[in-house]
Amino acid sequence: MSDPTPGDGGAVAAPDTEGRVLTGFRPTGPLHIGHWFGNVTNMVRLQADHEAFYFIADWHMLTTHYDRTEELPGNVRSLVLDLLAAGVDPQSVTLYRQSDVKEVAELTLLLGMITPLGWLERVPTYKERLRDMAERDIANLGLLGYPLLQTVDITIVKGELVPVGEDQVAHLELSREVVRRFNRLYGEVLVEPRALLSRAPLVPGSDGRKMSKSLDNTIDVRDDEDAIRTKVRSFITDPKKVRRGDPGRPEICPIFALHELFSHDILEWTEENCRSGALGCVDCKTNLADRIVTYYAPFRERRDELDREPHLAEDVLAEGAAKVHPVVDETMKAVRSAMSLG
Ligand code: SF4
Repeated sequence: MSDPTPGDGGAVAAPDTEGRVLTGFRPTGPLHIGHWFGNVTNMVRLQADHEAFYFIADWHMLTTHYDRTEELPGNVRSLVLDLLAAGVDPQSVTLYRQSDVKEVAELTLLLGMITPLGWLERVPTYKERLRDMAERDIANLGLLGYPLLQTVDITIVKGELVPVGEDQVAHLELSREVVRRFNRLYGEVLVEPRALLSRAPLVPGSDGRKMSKSLDNTIDVRDDEDAIRTKVRSFITDPKKVRRGDPGRPEICPIFALHELFSHDILEWTEENCRSGALGCVDCKTNLADRIVTYYAPFRERRDELDREPHLAEDVLAEGAAKVHPVVDETMKAVRSAMSLG
């Protein structure tokens, strides 16, 4: 996927290598466009030529949303259906829920014994999360230990390739260090994961910062037409372009960044006419909203169909749990034996 087009979702990945792929998704609420281009399209693409394990990271949600557990069942169901509607095929991949694998908690405890606190404290996303969610009381052991829990998610299923963006490389490096330390202490038991660097586009939200639910700046993939149009209208643009006729700078405009994902038919035209001033921001936003609505229409239709199957998500997760458990059992037997535990 080297040439982003509306059909393939636009995510761009480095050349793939061999190995079992592992990636997870926190069920914190509706999927937005940033998730779509950052993760979902990559998941759909990777399942075609890799053995893939995808999991719903419900324990990870607790690191920041421990006071909202009542939202979990709905969020998990919704996320599973979103992934299916987007094209994730549970026949090709192992799609499971993290909390269905209780051994994840056991291995987290065991790896916690050999993970220096300093390794966790230096992972940049810990401080970023604290800063971005300053209004929430989340400076807890669970959040600090988040990268260790990720390490366990990967190693417990012998994950070899982990799709990551540039900003997550530090997490994976920590995982590799923990695995190396374990293997030095107890023997070659755990598989050291490698990064599958995905050059997913940075998707800006309505305020120009990275699109994120916690920043309340998203366009959700299941938003209806009215919501999409309202949200697109709320986006900031080039502050120097006040009215039609003023020359604009598409390179600093979040609306143009979204055009790059959705508007290949008018991309050059938009850039030229923004720069010349001939295009006004109101019309430019209308053009973008039209394309986002059209792009997600088939997804929304499929998603509505799946929503009418009340047990589908739980059935898929049950099948996924049955598929993942033999792999997990094998890892845990080797770990317990290597550590002389019962
Ligand atoms: S015309 Fe479009 S790309 Fe240019 S500044 Fe306005 S919204 Fe942004």
